Amino acid sequence: MATLSVIGTPIGNLEDITLRALRVMAAADLILCEDTRVTRKLLERHGLKKPTLSYHAHSKLSRVDEITAALRAGQNLVLVSDAGTPGISDPGTALVAWLRREMAAQIKDGTLKIEAVPGPSALSAALSIAGVSCADFLFLGFLPHKKGRETLFREIAATERTVVFYESPHRVIKTLEALAGHLDPGRQVTICRELTKVFEEVVTATAEELLAYFGAHSDKVRGEFVVIVHPKV
Ligand code: SAM
Repeated sequence: MATLSVIGTPIGNLEDITLRALRVMAAADLILCEDTRVTRKLLERHGLKKPTLSYHAHSKLSRVDEITAALRAGQNLVLVSDAGTPGISDPGTALVAWLRREMAAQIKDGTLKIEAVPGPSALSAALSIAGVSCADFLFLGFLPHKKGRETLFREIAATERTVVFYESPHRVIKTLEALAGHLDPGRQVTICRELTKVFEEVVTATAEELLAYFGAHSDKVRGEFVVIVHPKV
């Protein structure tokens, strides 16, 4: 039986990897990864030496012939991204969809298994420590830079749900300005920055207060961010 194991990997702290993830990677014939240098660091940290193949595609198919041939030959492949869970605003979705469609017969007769080896995600890590209701939340991935951005902010302001999205240090101030312009006064926002890393930080305040905070601490406008807009009260 061939397998494609989709593995969640650390979002910062290289110790955040499961025993199963290490075992599956150690047994794999090939590791499909976003940036081979990033994945090699993780492998080295855990004493693994494995062949890697770069796989960047989010929504287009790439290297599908090589990958299909390897799976048809009964190989065990692993798909990882640079950090977190593949497919969550990361490469892999189109590949998994294609395999589920084109190799449906093999999946059905048990000669191919596509399995999840769950691990970290910035999404679940942020929600787990923000102390915000997430019984019902809307995850937006990365916000669009131009088209549809304004409409989306209006929707975020209108929804009663918790809203979560990813943000880069280059855009976080612009995004906070837009939130300040759209959200009801007093609506809380949590910023989770550099999770699992040395400068991990969680700050909850209104968008205006967060703008003042980051204005006063420009050294903190760096790293990786998850933004959580609290539900309307
Ligand atoms: N697939 C990944 C996951 O499951 O978390 C997300 C990949 S996406 C390309 C990268 C974005 O995730 C970053 O821009 C940031 O918004 C968020 N992110 C990743 N690592 C993070 C961390 N350690 N702390 C805060 N946010 C993080």
